[in-house]
Amino acid sequence: MNNFIKKTLDFSKDLKDLIDKLEAEQTLSKEEWMTLIQHRSAESDAYLAERARAVQQKHYGNQIYVRGLIEFTNYCKNDCYYCGIRRSNSHAQRYRLTPEQILDCCHQGYKLGFRTFVLQGGEDGFYTDAILVDLISRIRQEFPNCAITLSIGERSKESYQAFYDAGANRYLLRHETYNQTHYSHLHPATLTAQNRQRCLWDLKEVGYQVGTGIMVGSPGQTSEHLAEDLLFMKKLNPQMIGIGPFIPHHDTPFANQESGTMELTLFLLSAIRLMIPKVLLPATTALGTIAPDGRERGILAGANVIMPNLSPTNVREKYLLYDNKLHTGDESAQAVLHLQKSMKNIGYQIVVDRGDSKNKKNL
Ligand code: SAH
Repeated sequence: MNNFIKKTLDFSKDLKDLIDKLEAEQTLSKEEWMTLIQHRSAESDAYLAERARAVQQKHYGNQIYVRGLIEFTNYCKNDCYYCGIRRSNSHAQRYRLTPEQILDCCHQGYKLGFRTFVLQGGEDGFYTDAILVDLISRIRQEFPNCAITLSIGERSKESYQAFYDAGANRYLLRHETYNQTHYSHLHPATLTAQNRQRCLWDLKEVGYQVGTGIMVGSPGQTSEHLAEDLLFMKKLNPQMIGIGPFIPHHDTPFANQESGTMELTLFLLSAIRLMIPKVLLPATTALGTIAPDGRERGILAGANVIMPNLSPTNVREKYLLYDNKLHTGDESAQAVLHLQKSMKNIGYQIVVDRGDSKNKKNL
């Protein structure tokens, strides 16, 4: 055997050992993460995905959870360089759903079997604590057996407490990137990694089930940043981790930057599945946007959640975080049918409520 081939094979054995160590110990050191990220190959990715699926199957079988996403406002006071609904984008057509419209989305979702509603939006000053508390209380009253998830950015601990007391149970807030220098490459100086992380610890303390996450392949991201992100996720130990590729939006400062790749996203999904075996891991819309079969491949790499859009169809194209964001124009009911079919094709089953109590807990 010539030396070069021998070295390559030895090396992939090192990677296999690292993956086995990750599965056994559910953690790696920063240096080990960087080695795995930098030297990953098609072969090691395939092995990692195989192990991740074994862990996914062990804890969740072939069941895929659904969460209904309601994008209720695209007004935002922030100016994140990557985001299509940033304040400075004067081309964005702004909209806000009324409480009645939001409740209507919940009703439609409920009929389709959804038992978790995710209210996501820009950081919109119109929605004061008082207005949100009122809205959350109404949803809580009408849907006592559903989870209410918020994804509305950075607020004070007092606000988080007030929403929790009104009936919200879960909160999604991606940390975006752990590293402050990288964070400042993606955000204006008014926003800091430290405050973003403070919010996550506050949310945990209040009692929320939390979700964090990152964009994969965001401009300036290095393998060291990713290693730091993984270590932060391990330390925070959230209930959910949402990751998807960065995709440029034409009206942002990052219009000409490259997208993150599907391969790196799938690699990270598998790595996270091994690091926090029972974490809820969505195959995200962004992953479905960079490849037609992106979400299915996400499931096959270890993801176990899908978040279909329950927003009214006429506002969906306005919540444009990045270019070509997947939106089929399907009514929610149709979209669920499509998803059920595509999941069935790869051997998975969407868990929706069929009225029998056995399934209810799964939503
Ligand atoms: N205002 C809320 C919701 C933000 S939108 C908050 O601050 O949490 C939800 C997520 O979309 C963001 O956390 C970000 O990770 C992702 N996102 C925004 N712009 C994106 C882009 N150009 N490409 C990929 N993902 C993007």
